[in-house]
Amino acid sequence: QDEVRVRFRSCLDDVAAYKPGRPPERTDGRPTYKLSSNENPYPPLPGVLAAATEAAADMNRYPDMGAFDLLEALSEKLGVPVSDLALGTGSVAVLYHLLQASVSEGDEVVYAWRSFEAYPIAVQLTGATSVQVPLTADARHDFKAMEAALTERTRAVLVCSPNNPTGPVVHRDELLTFLDAVPADVIVVLDEAYYEFIRDPEAFDGVEVYRDRPNVVVLRTFSKAYGLAGFRIGYAIAHPPMVAAIRKCALPFGVSQIAQAAALASLRAEDELLERVEALVTERTRVVQELRASGWDVPESHANFVWMPLGDETVAFSEAVQAEGVSVRPFPGEGARVTIGERAANDLFLEVACAWRQSEV
Ligand code: PMP
Repeated sequence: QDEVRVRFRSCLDDVAAYKPGRPPERTDGRPTYKLSSNENPYPPLPGVLAAATEAAADMNRYPDMGAFDLLEALSEKLGVPVSDLALGTGSVAVLYHLLQASVSEGDEVVYAWRSFEAYPIAVQLTGATSVQVPLTADARHDFKAMEAALTERTRAVLVCSPNNPTGPVVHRDELLTFLDAVPADVIVVLDEAYYEFIRDPEAFDGVEVYRDRPNVVVLRTFSKAYGLAGFRIGYAIAHPPMVAAIRKCALPFGVSQIAQAAALASLRAEDELLERVEALVTERTRVVQELRASGWDVPESHANFVWMPLGDETVAFSEAVQAEGVSVRPFPGEGARVTIGERAANDLFLEVACAWRQSEV
């Protein structure tokens, strides 16, 4: 009964639209916890909320498209010129704009798999082809295989570190060796959405890497460590020609004044926000230790989530956890990704996960 006769672009044929998960529900009044979207569990800082509320009073006006105050503050924090920064409606939007600007039908985009679910969708929307290179057995990027996957059609490579949904970081040495093998006209995206949660001294820092590499684009976001997921604001750090290409494809006024004000207030309250990140990192260590102690083989994580390799048990496990009021993100046949939440949420999750392992032994 679908009467639509419009023809859509053929590259849309195989695109599976992103399916949002269901938040957990309970009828018995006990608390529920959403550990499925890698969100920050803390409520907003009062100063950040006040800045957003004040900015909301200007809702009849378009936002400041130049985002001058925020870009100045970011530039100072990162030690990079304003001309090397591009904001977007979440870092995922910046990735879409960058790919839209740089790849099209006939091109190939190489990235590790499993990784962030938005990658195959973003690539398909451009009409280009995804070349997915399997992770190693310990859930890390396999750079030898990624290098072997480069062809003369490769236009971009996406590197996710820490990798969503598995958690490990890419080390500086392995990245730099790989970058030396990538032709200078191939874009390399370093997606550091979880940068602030990294505690591995061998991890690369995108800001250092991009400086003398004009083909590298670093993506970061206010969604995770800064707790602004609902306002949709992220950014790229790259050389000016890359920044210009991203800006050309960006939606006009895509970053609201509320998001800009909240991000600016968050940078000013950074110490307090990073203390919260530290508390989440402590919780991550506890969750991983307890899971391992009860027999789970979880990879090391440097993000705000842990990966449970469950294979065929993924759906049954996720439903069992959901029945106790905790939603996680299942990848059927592979495993489940579980966000590090507040202590009570992690306790409830650990209770179910440890009991699950014990019931199997
Ligand atoms: N990159 C990775 C690896 C992510 O996991 C996410 C969020 N799930 C993003 C980018 C996008 O973040 P946002 O669009 O909220 O900035």
